[in-house]
Amino acid sequence: MDTMQVALLQAIPDLATSINSSLDDLNGWNCCIHCRKEIKRMNLELLGKPFRPLPTCKCVVEIEREKQQAQEREERKRRLKTAYSKSIMNDDLVNARLSNFTIRPGTEVAFDKACKYLKTWAESKLGMLMFGQPGNGKSHLLRGIEYELDAAGYATLFLDWPQLTVLAKDSLNKGSKVSLTDIIKSACEVDFLVLDEIGAGALTEFEFKDILFPIVNGRQGKKTGWTTNLDLNRLGNWFLQDRNGKFLDQDGRLLDRILGGCEIVENKGTSKRREDALRRLQG
Ligand SMILES: [Zn+2]
Repeated sequence: MDTMQVALLQAIPDLATSINSSLDDLNGWNCCIHCRKEIKRMNLELLGKPFRPLPTCKCVVEIEREKQQAQEREERKRRLKTAYSKSIMNDDLVNARLSNFTIRPGTEVAFDKACKYLKTWAESKLGMLMFGQPGNGKSHLLRGIEYELDAAGYATLFLDWPQLTVLAKDSLNKGSKVSLTDIIKSACEVDFLVLDEIGAGALTEFEFKDILFPIVNGRQGKKTGWTTNLDLNRLGNWFLQDRNGKFLDQDGRLLDRILGGCEIVENKGTSKRREDALRRLQG
């Protein structure tokens, strides 16, 4: 090796040989000290002279990639912990499972689709949007799916939309321990997110631009579950303008993106809460 080659090899640390190979033979095959596989020198020319750097072994690249992925996972977990100590859901949903769902008239198809969705979740590219009357078990079914995915080791979040908007607003206060960026980023990063009770209350411009839009945008290619009491027409109107009549999703692009990424399920059950109340009334 002449001095020029030595200098060049030192100047290009990624291609340098010493960490990679046990043999430093410029012409022959070299053996990776990690996986013992043979690696062949590249045959280049530099400034008119042969230049034969040794490429980094694939196994080293793979180790580095895994290290980086683990670091990123840790970072995501840390952000998730800061932004959400736990999912935000009403108390009655904490123990909701697909296994303890009571099938009532009208809920059969929705229940069946929820179970099938869970079974094929890993292969499916679609989220699930479930709509229907208030109190008929939509949130219970989506929470059931989310719970099972969480138990299977996926990163999941179940967020009640009205409570999420409060959390996001509070994050703007001075002294808030959580930043809006962390809230949005974490919601974007989980493998499965449920936004529960979309369409409750009129949207504000802040909620649309700073919460909903960045979450939908940031979750492209990821699966999201949605529940809403509104049918699709009324949901379109909910996205259309804020409570003061100012246009938000005027051309319907955001809603289109949501619907396009979801299996749409109508839960045709009537309100269980109302039925329970009636039953109590009648003794
Ligand atoms: Zn190797």
